[in-house]
Amino acid sequence: MSETMRAVVLDKPGRVRVEEIPRPVIQSPTDAIVRVTTAAICGSDLHLIDRKIPGMEEGDVVGHEFVGVIEDIGDAVMTMEPGQRVVASMFPACGHCRSCMRHQYRTCPSFQIFGSGPGFGDLLGAQTDFVRVPLADMTLATIPDRMSDEDAVFTGDILATAYQGLADGGVRHGDSVAIVGAGPVGQLAVMCAPLFGVDQVFAIDLVPERLEAAKALGAIPVDARLGDPSDSIFDQTRNLGADVVLEAVGNEAALETAWSVVRTGGTVAMIGVLYDEDWPVSAGDNWLRAVTVKPIVGDPLTHRHDLLRLIETGKLDPARIISHTMSLDDAADAYQMFKEHRANKVVLKTGEE
Ligand SMILES: [Zn+2]
Ligand SMILES: [Zn+2]
Repeated sequence: MSETMRAVVLDKPGRVRVEEIPRPVIQSPTDAIVRVTTAAICGSDLHLIDRKIPGMEEGDVVGHEFVGVIEDIGDAVMTMEPGQRVVASMFPACGHCRSCMRHQYRTCPSFQIFGSGPGFGDLLGAQTDFVRVPLADMTLATIPDRMSDEDAVFTGDILATAYQGLADGGVRHGDSVAIVGAGPVGQLAVMCAPLFGVDQVFAIDLVPERLEAAKALGAIPVDARLGDPSDSIFDQTRNLGADVVLEAVGNEAALETAWSVVRTGGTVAMIGVLYDEDWPVSAGDNWLRAVTVKPIVGDPLTHRHDLLRLIETGKLDPARIISHTMSLDDAADAYQMFKEHRANKVVLKTGEE
C-alpha cells in the first residue's frame, strides 16, 4: 500500500505533465524526506525536457531547485530534524572524501543532480510534493525563520552559479564584466556584481524583457538584435573588451559572443549548461589572446552560507527576479511560459496559496 503524490515528469519532448507517483521513502540512514513547499523551474530543466542532455525519458521526474520542510530522517542524520525548513543544494556530496575535503564537491563520488537523469546519477527530481534527499547533513541547509522560501530557493542553484561565475571568473575591483544571456542566471549575476566592486556590467541578450530586467538591476543592456555586441562593448571599454565574460546561455552562439567581447588576457567563465558545443576558436587563437577559460558548475555547498547571509542582511534580493508564482498542478503551463519568455522566472508552490 504505497501512498502517492504529485510529480512533474517529462512528457513528449519539449513538454512536462503532472502525474501521481509513489511517495519516496528513506533508503539510506543518511537520507531525509523533505515535503517540498517551493520548487523553481530552471533553465537547465528546459534543456532536459528538450532532451538536449540525453538519457532522460518520458515519465522521469524533474526539478533541482527547492525549499521544503523535513518530514522524516534516517537514523544516521545528525544535524537535521523533522520540522526544520531547509533549502537543498542541487547536488549532494558526502562531505568527507578527498574531493570534499578540498571543497571540490563536483568530483565527490556521491555527486548526482536532482531530476537530471542517468547522466547525473538518476536522482529523482524535486518538482513534487515529497523528495528523498541523500546525505541530508551536507545537502540541506536550514533557512532563517524570517526568510521567505522565495528568497532562499535560488541559493540551491542559480544564485550560487551566478555568484560563483564572478568569484571563479576572478572578477576584481574596477573590472568590466559582460554577461552573455540576461535570463534568470544572468540577472542574478548582475545583482551580485556590485559585491565584487565591478566598474561596469554589461548584459547581452536578444529578448527585450530580459534586457529591461537586467537594466533595472544595474546592467548596461546590449541588444544583440541591433548589432554586433562586441562593437558596443569595445566602444564602452576604451577598446579593451570585457575583463571577465560570463557565458550564461549554454549554446554555440553565446560562446561565440563571449569570445568576441572578452579582452586579450581576460577570462571567459562558462556557467551555461553545455553539452557537445565546439569552442569557437582554435587552441592557437586562444593561446595568442591568452584568454582563460573557466568551466563552472555552480556549487551551492560552497557558497550558500555566504549567500544566505547576504540575503538576510539585505545585500541581495534574489526573489526580485520571480515573475510568476504558480501551483505545481499548473507546471505544464509554467514550463511553456518560461520557454517562450513570457515568464522571467517561475516558482511552483505545492500547497494552497
Ligand atoms: Zn538549475
Ligand atoms: Zn565527497
